[in-house]
Amino acid sequence: MMNHIGFNFDTTYIHLSNTLFTFNHPEQVRNPSLIIVNHDLSKDLGLDLSSLDDQACAALFAGTHPPEGVVFFSQAYSGHQFGYYSVLGDGRAHLWGEHLDPGGKRYDIQFKGSGRTPYTRGGDGKAALSPMLREYLISEAMHYLGVATTRSLAVVSTSTTVIRDELLDGAILTRVASSHIRVGTFEYAKEQGISVLSELLDYTVARHFPELSQSDNKALKLFERVMHQHIDLVVDWMRVGFIHGVMNTDNMAICGETIDYGPCAFMDAYHLKTVFSSIDTEGRYAYGHQPKIVKWNLAVFASSLLPLVDPDRVKAVQLVTNILDQFEGAYDKKWVGMMRKKLGLSGEQQGDKGLILDLLTWMQKNGVDYTHTFLGLSEGRKPSGVIYQDEGFSEWYTHWTTRLALNKISEKESLNLMRSVNPAIIPRNAKVEFALSAAIEGDFAPFNHLLALLKDPYNNRSELGPYQDPPPDSYGYQTFCGT
Ligand code: AMP
Ligand code: MG
Repeated sequence: MMNHIGFNFDTTYIHLSNTLFTFNHPEQVRNPSLIIVNHDLSKDLGLDLSSLDDQACAALFAGTHPPEGVVFFSQAYSGHQFGYYSVLGDGRAHLWGEHLDPGGKRYDIQFKGSGRTPYTRGGDGKAALSPMLREYLISEAMHYLGVATTRSLAVVSTSTTVIRDELLDGAILTRVASSHIRVGTFEYAKEQGISVLSELLDYTVARHFPELSQSDNKALKLFERVMHQHIDLVVDWMRVGFIHGVMNTDNMAICGETIDYGPCAFMDAYHLKTVFSSIDTEGRYAYGHQPKIVKWNLAVFASSLLPLVDPDRVKAVQLVTNILDQFEGAYDKKWVGMMRKKLGLSGEQQGDKGLILDLLTWMQKNGVDYTHTFLGLSEGRKPSGVIYQDEGFSEWYTHWTTRLALNKISEKESLNLMRSVNPAIIPRNAKVEFALSAAIEGDFAPFNHLLALLKDPYNNRSELGPYQDPPPDSYGYQTFCGT
């Protein structure tokens, strides 16, 4: 169903068992105002918003004038939050449906912060402006860093107040995802019984992995594919120093895109135990713990799929365990491969992993900035800063140059390899906070400037200078769930 803006809805999820979702309208917004709309993304989606003025755009992205073909609904799901099972569902989100872009690619379009739903439980269904702008900024940064991610199409202010610890401006984010099917969706479906679970499996395979639909064990094959996709994803997070912050199973999308930008943040000084989220007191979702948590979440996914893997439970457990046991080896191989690129190493030499770990250990011991170090090395020299005069670093640097001499590629190719994976800019916490504080006071210049720079993260240039400096040592940054 195509309309003049270019939305082309063909929503298939609503044909699934009605225990998986509820039709339900966003709360009415009387005076929405447009904060930001993502023109690059809208073009990618085949949309033409040029006929809409700001007011019409605000009405569109507040749900007061939904385009033809939209059928608002919220999805049911469960999840393990910090290890504990809960029945959840979209407590403040409404899907518009599935839009097909001109190439036929299917996307969920979803509101976040659009009011209460049957799954709201104790919440207010709302979102505040600052965390929605944060999601917009960081998800776009991730996209341009080349990390698989859900994206942000628009943010509108609802011109209402949201009560948190303080009174905040309310907002709605429009999120775009390949789908919102989560590990938690399977956990929920399993509780509904084998027919719902089996329906969800068939649907997910058809939508995301159609090449598996003829497989003799679809559930097992799906599990294997999702495992490898999430290994790729977490390796990419590790590459850029991204800490998701709340990797509950309901925040792990089957399509392999980063989802739910709450307390996430980028690491400055390298340390495996880096945590920013105020509620993650045990460091469950710390930087260096992320691969283990992906595996833990995958084990939950596997256990949800068990009845479909084999009717004999013992056999089913054996089959999924055989795959899950490959996690560490597969992760390690991908991670070492990624780190080789960060160091410009071509081919494989026996000492490569040791060389990589030596650098990281030195960085961790000395509290050295992750992004700055690799960016400096990508310039083909020691990074700037007194810390790099350290003897430990000099020793490592000599080993590195010796290893580089074994490369089968030219120096230029090696530097280009490094520059293609080592960002020259990441959304550093202090810069993000500065941009957000100005934005909620009505000054969007810092936000827009930062966003523009983040769209070209691998091209080192002088205008990035003020955004590259590591923060001072004592910078004790904390993030909040923003719910
Ligand atoms: P999250 O931590 O954002 O993944 O949220 C976990 C669960 O809480 C999901 O079911 C959300 O829909 C729900 N939730 C988060 N914030 C709110 C809110 N303000 N009102 C209602 N539900 C919420
Ligand atoms: Mg979530």
